[in-house]
Formats: sequence, structure tokens, C-alpha cells
Amino acid sequence: MSLPTAAHVRQQFLDFFASKGHHIVPSAPLVLKDDPTLLFINSGMAPFKDYFLGNKPAPFKRIADTQKCLRVSGKHNDLEEVGYDTYHHTMFEMLGNWSFGDYFKTEAIAWAWELLTEVYKLPKDRLYVTYFEGDTGDNLGADTETQNLWRQYTTDDRILPGNKKDNFWEMGDTGPCGPCTEIHIDLRDESEVAAKSGRELVNADHPQVVEIWNNVFMEFQRRADGSLVKLPQQHVDTGMGFERLMMAVSGVKSNYDTDVFQPLIQFIAAEAGVAYTGQMEKTDIAIRVIADHIRAISFTIADGQLPSNVKAGYVIRRILRRAVRYSFSSLGFKQPFLYKLVPVLANQMAGVFPELKQQTQFVQRVIEEEEIAFLKTLENGLRRIDALEESVKAQGGVIDGKTAFELSDTFGFPLDLTALIAREKDLTVDEAGFQKELAAQKNRSRNAQETEQSDWTIVTPSEEQPAFVGYDLDEAPARILRYRK
Ligand code: ATP
Ligand code: MG
Ligand code: MG
Ligand code: MG
Repeated sequence: MSLPTAAHVRQQFLDFFASKGHHIVPSAPLVLKDDPTLLFINSGMAPFKDYFLGNKPAPFKRIADTQKCLRVSGKHNDLEEVGYDTYHHTMFEMLGNWSFGDYFKTEAIAWAWELLTEVYKLPKDRLYVTYFEGDTGDNLGADTETQNLWRQYTTDDRILPGNKKDNFWEMGDTGPCGPCTEIHIDLRDESEVAAKSGRELVNADHPQVVEIWNNVFMEFQRRADGSLVKLPQQHVDTGMGFERLMMAVSGVKSNYDTDVFQPLIQFIAAEAGVAYTGQMEKTDIAIRVIADHIRAISFTIADGQLPSNVKAGYVIRRILRRAVRYSFSSLGFKQPFLYKLVPVLANQMAGVFPELKQQTQFVQRVIEEEEIAFLKTLENGLRRIDALEESVKAQGGVIDGKTAFELSDTFGFPLDLTALIAREKDLTVDEAGFQKELAAQKNRSRNAQETEQSDWTIVTPSEEQPAFVGYDLDEAPARILRYRK
């Protein structure tokens, strides 16, 4: 079966909204230097915040685009899902159409339905839509306007009420907000659909009954005292996950089985000399993690954010190291490898995000250097474990918590790798002991934080401290801030 191409499906979205009077704009960079509230753009709305807040006039009343998004920190953090589920990524494209004080619910709903069912030809009997059920705390009734609009297109059993968490969007503690309507698709096989209605599976983390599009209707303003007032102008903000749309139009069961990811996946599998089976094999998970993470890493670097030890740069370094860790331990890559994926991705995306193609060599160099450094850390850790082996064996075969913690904390060798290597050597790791050490360390830094909050500083290697050669990958970035005595 030949897959629909990503370029074509993306263009169909943009052409459709252009035909409805929308101005098509390019994606903003992933890192917004002038927005201190966000490390990375995490939704299509973020670059347009000022228009909704009324700080700047929107240049056009109707805009559509595909926005690069990253959900790896803060309110939206999907990092841990990646590799294990089929539809959450670190970096993804959010297709969006906007009305700044122009059209509202009627048009947004009509166009969403037209696009999905007539252009993309998704089956109507596999789509579910939601509306806000109301909230007594805010003295708001159900969004029956949205509910009734949907009744023109689908049947009541496919129109579901949703709670505040899923169906009421707020920019922050104060500011524009309003109800939203989400569109979900049931991609299960016929036999499964016959056995159980998809209705029960909406918003239930089912891998084949997934949310594809969210349409937000901004009609209120949340004031500082918590009350809501009607906005003088109403806006529409929508976001559709492009990779999920690709899964739906391709008739496959995973975002990774689409043209967006297949070129990367096939390249990784060939280099590793394994077959990608699309299952939950250790190698499959690693391949998905790498195919996902290389996109986040490459585009962030191309957008000007280098890996570093602070803030956004630290988040990127952690993602990069997470990818190295999977390629090292699950696919056996002992030499730098990730950087080889950059040209594959750059060529694939050249039509829509040329910034990567323009900087391929630079991005490759940055990634390769990071890989070399981290692989050295890993090798170092391996040598240390080798050196310990005899004495650990003599004492019952358990690497104690303190040692495992030191490997991770001082030498940047992550616990799961210590456990893996230990298993290969017929040893075990006292993981409870490790957690105890970790908790004690967190406590120490918390106490330090409580005593004097103003004097935080980035740790640099010094005589008093062991040289700092890496971080445990799954720890909060806050860990790198230590109190200077
Ligand atoms: P979910 O409930 O699946 O986590 P969400 O409600 O957090 O999605 P929204 O914030 O409503 O997502 O974003 C709009 C759209 O962006 C979603 O409908 C979905 O298609 C897509 N999307 C959200 N998070 C991701 C992700 N991590 N990877 C890929 N697409 C995503
Ligand atoms: Mg989410
Ligand atoms: Mg959701
Ligand atoms: Mg949503």
C-alpha cells in the first residue's frame, strides 16, 4: 500500500483554509526569545498570544498555518509517552486556523467537518465530537450552541459532553478563555468497533480512539478575581495534530506508520541491522524514540537553541541524551549515530521547514559533538562498573544504592543503564537504596533552597566538588541549580 505523502496532506489543509479566506503564514520558530513564560512553543496559539490579549492588532482576520510545537516541559509534557504510545510526540506539527474577531462557531464547525469528511474523506461513522458540559463553579451552562451546530452534521450518539479539563480552554490564570470542541476518530478494526462502541473510548487513552483536532472558541475573559466576562470580540483558535491526521488518512494504527516517520524509521532500522516490527520490542521502542527525538533536537537547534546546561538548552540536551541512551543500550550503537539522521529529516521537510536543510551541516556537527561527549560518559561509567565487578561479586552480587547513585549523580551514568549492565554481569542493583540516596539529595537541595533563595548558581567543576560530567536524564532541570555554600 502506498502511503499518502505528508507534503500533500499538509498542503490540502493549507489550501482548504486559503479557499476560505485565510492568510497562510509560516511556522514561528520553536523557541520564542521574547516570551519568558514558555521555554518552547507548545501550541499553534502561542505565537499569536498578543493578538488575543489585544496587545497587538492581528495583521489578518483569518490566518492558517502549520506550527512546529514541542511538548517536553511545563504544562504539556509528553516526553515519557514517546516510544511507548503511538500518538504523542515531543515535536509535532499543529495545523491551525484562526479567526481574530471574525468568524465564530458556525463557520469553524462547518469547515472542520467539510475538511475532514469531504477533503480527507474520513468516514463520518468513525468521528466523535465533544462540547463543554458547563461548570456550576463558573456559573456557566453547557455549550448548547456547539452541541446544536454539530447536530447538523452528525447524530446525537456521536456528540459527547466533556468536562472543564478537556473542553474549556484558558490561556492562564487570567486572560482569554472559552469552551472548545474536540474531534476524535476511532481507527479500530471493524470487529472491535462492533464489539464495543467508540463512544466509551473517547478521551480514555485508547491508542486507536484518538483526539485529532481541538477547536477553541474564545468568548470570555477571566479576570484577576476569578470571574468571567464576555469578550467584546470573539476568536477561534484551532489545533490539529498533523501526525495524527496522517495516521487517520493513511488508514494505519500508529503515527509512526505514516510517511512522516517511515523514512527515519527505515534508515534507523537499516543502520542498526534490525527490522522495525511496529510492536513493543525493545528495538521497536528505541527506534520510535530516536525517530521522534531527532526531530525535536534538529528543529530546536536549527531554530537557534543549542544544547546547554540551563533552561531550554538543558531540556534539549536531556532529549538528545535520552535518544543516545536508547540507541546505545537497545540498538547497540557505540559510536555517534544520531547526527546521520539529520539529512534524512532535512530533505523530508525541506518544502515546509527549509531552515533545517539550510543548516544541515551545522546541526549535524552540534549533535555529533554532544553524542561524542555523552558516549564518553557512558563508556566511563561502563569502565567503573567493570572495575567494581569483582568486589561486588565477592560481597553478594549487589551494587549498593550509594554506588549506583554516585555513578548517576557524579558521573552521569543513568540508573537504568547501571541496572542493564549489572544484569549482563549477573549482578543486581539496590534500586531502593538508590532512591533513598536520591531523596536525601533532593532534601539537601530543598533545604538549601529554603534557607536562601536568592543565591542560586550553576555548578561548575571545582577542586572541592567532583568534576561534573553529566546529568541523570530523567531528573528535573532544577537539579542543575545547586546552592553555593
Ligand atoms: P491529548 O489529549 O491527546 O494529549 P491534547 O488535548 O493535550 O491531546 P491539545 O492541547 O488540544 O491536545 O492540542 C491540539 C491537538 O494537537 C490535539 O488534538 C492533537 O491532535 C495534537 N497533539 C497534542 N499533543 C500532541 C503530541 N504530544 N504529539 C502529537 N500531537 C499532539
Ligand atoms: Mg495532552
Ligand atoms: Mg485531550
Ligand atoms: Mg485537546
